[in-house]
Amino acid sequence: MQVRLTIGITAAFAVGVGTIAMWTTWQMQQILIDGNKQNIEQIAERLPGDVEVYSEMYSLEIGLQKAIANRTTGKTLVWVKRNDGANSVKNLVPSDKAAITLMSLMRSPLSTRVYEIGDRYFVVCGKFLQVKGQRLGLLFVAQDISYEQQMFSSLVRNLGIVSLIALIIITIAIAIYIKKSLQPLRRISQLAETISVNDLSQARLHLHRAPTEVKELARTCDMMLDRLSEAWEQQRQFVGNVSHELRTPLTIVQGYLQSVLKRETNLTPPQREALETAAMEAESTIRLLQDLLDLARADAGYLHIQIEPLVLNDLVIEVAAMAMQYRSRIITLETSHEQILVKADHSRLKQVLLNLIDNAVKYSDPHFAIALVLESKAESAIIHVCDRGLGIPLQQQHLIFERFYRVDEVRNRSTGGCGLGLSIVKTLVDSMGGSVTVRSTLGEGSTFTVTLPSAA
Ligand code: ADP
Repeated sequence: MQVRLTIGITAAFAVGVGTIAMWTTWQMQQILIDGNKQNIEQIAERLPGDVEVYSEMYSLEIGLQKAIANRTTGKTLVWVKRNDGANSVKNLVPSDKAAITLMSLMRSPLSTRVYEIGDRYFVVCGKFLQVKGQRLGLLFVAQDISYEQQMFSSLVRNLGIVSLIALIIITIAIAIYIKKSLQPLRRISQLAETISVNDLSQARLHLHRAPTEVKELARTCDMMLDRLSEAWEQQRQFVGNVSHELRTPLTIVQGYLQSVLKRETNLTPPQREALETAAMEAESTIRLLQDLLDLARADAGYLHIQIEPLVLNDLVIEVAAMAMQYRSRIITLETSHEQILVKADHSRLKQVLLNLIDNAVKYSDPHFAIALVLESKAESAIIHVCDRGLGIPLQQQHLIFERFYRVDEVRNRSTGGCGLGLSIVKTLVDSMGGSVTVRSTLGEGSTFTVTLPSAA
């Protein structure tokens, strides 16, 4: 837009200046010609009278010569092309080739016009010369305007150079002005491009030095951001409150169901199956509510994280044992004998690893083991959770950490879940000062890598 506006305004300006310059040039040329035209036409008008007067005293031939000599000056050339082809002219300098050429070119009467011969310019007019009813030949009067024309040409050249310089300066000034005027719009578009729910409450434009219309637009944007931020806050509070309110009664229901399943021995198989299904659904709903509650707390900045140095090897062994017991899957552990110390929240890190192992279980064949690999670097400790499952398409790998994002509803339908697990993982790992990434090949498997700051 900036380039287009600059080019458009400059082109309009160039056309305007060009038109004025051309019109001025044409006008000046006309004035130059008109001034000399009047002079030579007057001479042409009066010469027959002069010849008549002189011929009263002398012969017609001498009268003609005297009249020509009388009217000829340094710049005005008068000659008569006689009927026999000879020219009557006053002392023509033989070296004046331009004048000789001009004379040889003139053969018939002509209205006044400019002739360019070499680097010389002449305004010439020509008419029949009639004296006492006798046509003596063709009378030509030429005015040498080379000097004026040269002055005029150099004036036009200078005018062109000045116009060009003015055009360049004005183009630069216009470009700077347009750039400055569009700066606020660029800020608005940058803000719209980069804003996320996390900085919805702080991101504002606050434009002070901008055109009134742009300031108005910025104010409207700021007001819209205020409303969005308020709505987002309300929604966050609502989700937090609902999750909190539902979790407690559901936990009680699940507790009752578990105790009935454990204690009652006289249940019929269909009754037991129904109660088991109800207990499973209650458990997964409690997990979902817990995830929602965690996310709402993290968004509000109330997520409780207690960072302390802990031995990663022990924690991973504990998690692997738990996962093997509850998920009935083989989990292999690759770790060195040396102790790896990390700074993390014990229970939150367990939650992270269990979530990743849960996914590995859900999205891979039960025959394949899941591997937990520990690595220690200078300033960090790394945990890889590897499976040989479905894998994740490359173009979706950066999206799976977003809330409620699921790769493919068809493949996910049987696994349950609602796309919150990995966003919880990322939120927790981020708040422990670490990072989580994924490397995956479709049909071959995935490796989730958690990196945490070392406490060594
Ligand atoms: P969900 O509750 O759907 O598992 P997650 O946030 O844990 O939600 O995961 C998001 C999506 O990422 C899942 O729906 C799944 O398609 C994909 N995904 C996560 N982990 C794996 C994995 N180990 N292998 C293949 N796909 C995975």
